[in-house]
Amino acid sequence: MSALRMTAMNVGPMTLEKAKLVTFAPGEVTIPTTAAVLEHPDHGVILWDTGINEAVADPERRDSYWGPGIFDAFGAHAFTRDHVIDRQLDKLGIKTSDVRYVVYSHLHLDHAGGMAHFPDAIHVAQRDELRYALFPDPWTSPVYCQNDFKSVHQLNWKLIDGDCDLFGDGSLKLIRTPGHAPGHQSLIVDLPNRGRIVLAADVSHQRDQFEAFIPMPWDWSAGAMTASRQRLMLLESGGIPAFFCHEGLDLERLPTGGTYWD
Ligand SMILES: [Zn+2]
Repeated sequence: MSALRMTAMNVGPMTLEKAKLVTFAPGEVTIPTTAAVLEHPDHGVILWDTGINEAVADPERRDSYWGPGIFDAFGAHAFTRDHVIDRQLDKLGIKTSDVRYVVYSHLHLDHAGGMAHFPDAIHVAQRDELRYALFPDPWTSPVYCQNDFKSVHQLNWKLIDGDCDLFGDGSLKLIRTPGHAPGHQSLIVDLPNRGRIVLAADVSHQRDQFEAFIPMPWDWSAGAMTASRQRLMLLESGGIPAFFCHEGLDLERLPTGGTYWD
């Protein structure tokens, strides 16, 4: 491989009331959970988010793993063992042990569920996000699944305070975009042929909500979220498009199924 390239995958379909994502919105919506693989010529395979834990695909284990009511609340009924990050990587011919870096947008249960599959990787998160995830406020604690963090103290963490050029070559830049979670971050990917894009995770769950500045009921801070959305809007107006984790239209635009952007 000679240059940076990326591909995306759906690691967690969900069908739920849209109001759970976009405050007061009517109806129901089916959404993906998007994770991405980045292959860097010098730094190898980098994973952006890890999806939902395999226990959630098992009817016998899902409620004890996620906690009572969470599975039904998020409507993860279409989530199967094949959506789990190890199998998604396998389809691309990548072993979990090939992953050198796991970078988290934030540590909610649909982003950190695959953490334990990568015991030898360097795990990258904002410092305040990791600390908050292990001791969340009661009202956000249902979305920080403590079972996802059982191996957290055995892992090698690179904790970041603020914006960061991950490898110092401009290829992958992390920018702080708090609001949905206290230490939420987004990833600007500089693809040699396509140009720059930003993987914006959960800065917004739906595109219409982004444009109208409508919060999600689970957002940690609507004020911080508004500022983060303004930051992404500035990037978009400068020609760097944002792709949201749970916006189906965004996943349709990204390369999947073994196709890549470079
Ligand atoms: Zn999410």
